[in-house]
Amino acid sequence: MTEVSVSDPGASASRLVTPAALKIVDVRARTISHRLDGQGVRFGIGRAIKRDAVIVRVEADNGLVGFGEAHHALSPTTVAELVNTSLREIALGCDPTLIEDLWHRVYRYQIRSHGMGEGVYIALSGLDMALWDLTGKALGLPVCRLLGAAPKRFPAYAGGITLGYQEPSALSDELAGYVQRFGFKAAKLRLGDTAERDIARVRRIREDFGPDFAIMVDVNTAYDWVDLLRLLPALEELDVAWLEEPFPRRELDALAELRRRSKVPIAAGENHYGRDDMRELLGRRCIDVVQGDASKTGGISELKKISDLATLHRLRFAPHTSHTNLNYAATLHVMSASPVAYFFEAAGIRDNSFSEAAITAPLGIRDGYVETPDLPGLGVAVDEAALDGFAALPGAQNAG
Ligand SMILES: [Mg+2]
Repeated sequence: MTEVSVSDPGASASRLVTPAALKIVDVRARTISHRLDGQGVRFGIGRAIKRDAVIVRVEADNGLVGFGEAHHALSPTTVAELVNTSLREIALGCDPTLIEDLWHRVYRYQIRSHGMGEGVYIALSGLDMALWDLTGKALGLPVCRLLGAAPKRFPAYAGGITLGYQEPSALSDELAGYVQRFGFKAAKLRLGDTAERDIARVRRIREDFGPDFAIMVDVNTAYDWVDLLRLLPALEELDVAWLEEPFPRRELDALAELRRRSKVPIAAGENHYGRDDMRELLGRRCIDVVQGDASKTGGISELKKISDLATLHRLRFAPHTSHTNLNYAATLHVMSASPVAYFFEAAGIRDNSFSEAAITAPLGIRDGYVETPDLPGLGVAVDEAALDGFAALPGAQNAG
């Protein structure tokens, strides 16, 4: 008889605890929306008048449920429809724990040829996130541990739909409130108004919050070369930590040239989809800070690969975040598995009704830091009855 050693893979396999083969029995996406009070925040892509998110729910035949968030893409009900038709059909009957296999099934049938391109990446992001949540719950492990990493603590910056175009004193007052409440030592300002007014805003924040406060700026593609070259010397003088999305996503030559001319690090990636887009963005040396979004770029599976690309290129990884705790938690789990993770974007500090009322998670920001939830799956609790209070508002999120 052959003696079986403990290093024998066959022997180890017999000791593995695996979930019983599960099957996906339901996939459903719903749009949730709410209007913003007052005038909303004005920034480089218009004035935000409402908030939308697409919540994807996956159920397995043992009753376990996982949730994910797909970005609204400015057309939230269209994203939900894509999940509820094509992706649902592809996913039904598959094992929800075989995430990589299902991801590539969607890629093969919906992305690789024909298909709706980035729209499918966005829809797939919500499905992928829900699969990781469900698998973590099935195994009783947080997603970061499935990625081989312990939960970690990251510096956060005041971001999201905050700190828009307003008078410097009003901007400083708004930020002071966030700093007092959350202890932030970093914030991102919205630029793309006029170079003169933008410089006045950045200067005021530098003066009021001191030399050690990190200031990021986000142009949201609103400027041309003339504006940017007028702005750049002031951003360098004011020690800005990064300049985000100076140009639209396909302007890679312009991005690469700006990076060569700028002492301020360049950040982009929230509007780049999948490893193919990112490979080009990074390979052509366009940016310093990589910002893929787990709810847009292909989910947790793809964002992890993008963080690995950032590592290979010796770049920093500061993912963009979207509208609910599902995306925030997913981002923290992936950041936990990245040796080049930099800042967490605290987007939920204003107008965050979804997360406060229906999608809760232990993500308290204290002293400017946030921690990865150490709970099974994403570590997020979804109250589906409470979601009914956020009826879908079809249509674009920003006005002129
Ligand atoms: Mg941005």
